[in-house]
Amino acid sequence: MIAVVPQRSRTKSWLLLVLLLLFVVVGGVSYLGWRQSVPPVRATLQAPRFLGHTTSLPVAFEAARGNVKRAEVRVVQAGRSVTVARAETPLGARVQLPVTIESTALGLKEGAATLELWGSDDFWRPLRPHDRAIVSHPVTVDLTPPRLEVLASTRYVSPGGAVLVAFKAGDASHVDVTVGRRAFPSFAYGPADRGARVALIALPYDYTSGTPLGVTARDEAGNTASRSVPTELKPRAFPHDTIKLSEAFLQAKVPELLPQRPPTQSLIEGFLVINRDQRKQAEEEKIKIGAKTADKPLWSGPFVQPRNTKVFSNFAEARTYVYEGQTVDTQVHVGFDLASTKHSPVPAANSGQVAFTGALTIYGNTVIVDHGLGLQTLYAHLSSIDVKPGDTVEKGHVLGRSGTTGLAVGDHVHFEVLVSGVSVTPVEWWDGKWIRDRVNKPLKEAGLPEIAGVGEVPDEPVARPAAAPRPTRRRR
Ligand SMILES: [Zn+2]
Repeated sequence: MIAVVPQRSRTKSWLLLVLLLLFVVVGGVSYLGWRQSVPPVRATLQAPRFLGHTTSLPVAFEAARGNVKRAEVRVVQAGRSVTVARAETPLGARVQLPVTIESTALGLKEGAATLELWGSDDFWRPLRPHDRAIVSHPVTVDLTPPRLEVLASTRYVSPGGAVLVAFKAGDASHVDVTVGRRAFPSFAYGPADRGARVALIALPYDYTSGTPLGVTARDEAGNTASRSVPTELKPRAFPHDTIKLSEAFLQAKVPELLPQRPPTQSLIEGFLVINRDQRKQAEEEKIKIGAKTADKPLWSGPFVQPRNTKVFSNFAEARTYVYEGQTVDTQVHVGFDLASTKHSPVPAANSGQVAFTGALTIYGNTVIVDHGLGLQTLYAHLSSIDVKPGDTVEKGHVLGRSGTTGLAVGDHVHFEVLVSGVSVTPVEWWDGKWIRDRVNKPLKEAGLPEIAGVGEVPDEPVARPAAAPRPTRRRR
């Protein structure tokens, strides 16, 4: 018998074959399509706007599949392309490429340039992607330091005193006015087209003439310029005092200021923690509060000392602490202690805005008023506080009442003038003539608006032309 393959069965086989082929073709095409669709290497950089003399920037390359095979950074200027960093296989899926661009060494000129990132992966694609920059980023090569010019400054300065500096800083993006290593902020001041800045700086009470006073300006490209501030240092003497620590005082103050102290700690040990650590903590807090200041002067005229108060401790008094006949500590008292009657009203020394209220370690209940440009006043040991942060106060506004909170013996107010958190002598700011001569005079010399309420700065006497030198008689 001849076996006859039924017609239906043959058709079915063909259909299966066609379907199989279709499956292979469609599968293959979509597989190739998927391979081709895998995105190429991605590159990211923290894009600078400028290239200075030396610019460092981390650049990252990342392959979606496979590994990064090549990573390259180029700078292109006027048709010339320079490779500044390059790494090649094997690199892994993600590559961090540290890049340092030395503009002068690379022959870059000031002006426009393009930062280009190139890269490829080892992932096979049916069609090789066209080799081109993954990222093109426009930059400006800037090798010129900011034009920095000191316009005027307080001429006669003293340790524990304030100094005003007026200057122009060109295209600087960051400016520091420095006393040694401590930097003070500066503020745009006066008419905008004048482009001037001013800074109030504090010379600490232990300032010596060897510590440099200067202005440093840096532009976005990292170019810096520095100028020193010309001053003449007048010495200032500070008093000494000895404080005998009584058992009664320690009994009263140590538990108040150190409520969590260990039971094994003696009262005098507790006192030393307060006098050293809490004092230091308060100094740091004052610096922080000093950074939150108005960018313009909020004050006018001289600062006022509360009426009917007696000074019984001076600024920068060096204190020796004696306990049971032994010297146990030395600290410097950076303020004035003003006493009158118990719980007497404490007026704001000048107009401004309340920057801080509350407990401040050894200062007890404290109010700090901001007067702008970093200038602030502090009122401590208060028995009560009548203002809150943000309140606008006029000169004489009652901030609270005097007291004995914190490390205080007897009802009084501990008063400080602060310049960006650094204590300076209030004597200068209580004196309208001092403000006129040391703040307004340099402002006037710089052609900037003066602080109101301290009288006119007299015009500089016009220098008379020097008389013609007399002919010297020759002896025969
Ligand atoms: Zn005091």
